[in-house]
Amino acid sequence: MLIENTFFGENNKIDTAIDRIKFAYEQSKSRDLGALYVAFSGGKDSIVVAELCRLAKIPYELHYNITGIDPPEVIKFMKDNYPNLIWHNFEKSMFQLIIEKHLPPTRLIRFCCSELKERGGQGRYCLTGVRWAESTRRKNNRKPFERFARGKEKMLFNDNEKERKFFEVCQLKGKFVVNPIIDWTEQDIWEFIKKQNLSYCCLYDENFTRIGCIGCPMAPTHQREKEFERWPGFKKAYIATFNKMLEQMPNKDKCTWKTGEEVFNWWLYGEKGKDKNTLNFLE
Ligand code: SF4
Repeated sequence: MLIENTFFGENNKIDTAIDRIKFAYEQSKSRDLGALYVAFSGGKDSIVVAELCRLAKIPYELHYNITGIDPPEVIKFMKDNYPNLIWHNFEKSMFQLIIEKHLPPTRLIRFCCSELKERGGQGRYCLTGVRWAESTRRKNNRKPFERFARGKEKMLFNDNEKERKFFEVCQLKGKFVVNPIIDWTEQDIWEFIKKQNLSYCCLYDENFTRIGCIGCPMAPTHQREKEFERWPGFKKAYIATFNKMLEQMPNKDKCTWKTGEEVFNWWLYGEKGKDKNTLNFLE
């Protein structure tokens, strides 16, 4: 391995992450499920996971789900640096989904992730770059090893031997998810990138700390404002979509929004009670 064992102190996070990856591959191999399926986004966490897979010397594939709302710089970065990346197109774009659902995605009604981001990997062992440090929700709801089966509750497993055994014998069909860098901090990520001399997307040098879907409702308002300033074409596209959405609303007369611009402002800045009104309107 290129990195000294002490790089992250006594509890070497690199070795732990590689051990998780190797364990996942052993499981995948024993079930004839082939190479590990890496859910790749072009962001800093993804590039770290891809590098760890390379260091683990196991077979893996990098898969990217096209969302149609990714920053062009991220797309270019992936095209330039990951020639073997497997690209998957969406069935319906974010804009089609908004028109169909009569609503933009919100923190409470987040219909787009399952349609755009979380597709693929069924029946495979999947690796993600999920980290606890990203949010309290992730800290409370995610574990190094997870089992997703349709119609069943997600099963979570820790690193210890007993829990790994459960993960090993789990016979449910669905998707196995391994989060090898779940315990890494932002600093760990950047130290590793620096140490391994990995290329990363230029947007990080423009002070974007998180890169992903432009205008994602899960991002803080200041970040979304910055994104729409940086890529005004996407702002225009959202407003045009909201106009179309309003035209095609059932019971239009009950809707308090009159223009796409009004919907956009509500979507970005919110207005007390509007979420509830919208839900009533949808019923
Ligand atoms: S906009 Fe946000 S919530 Fe929607 S798919 Fe993208 S990351 Fe998921």
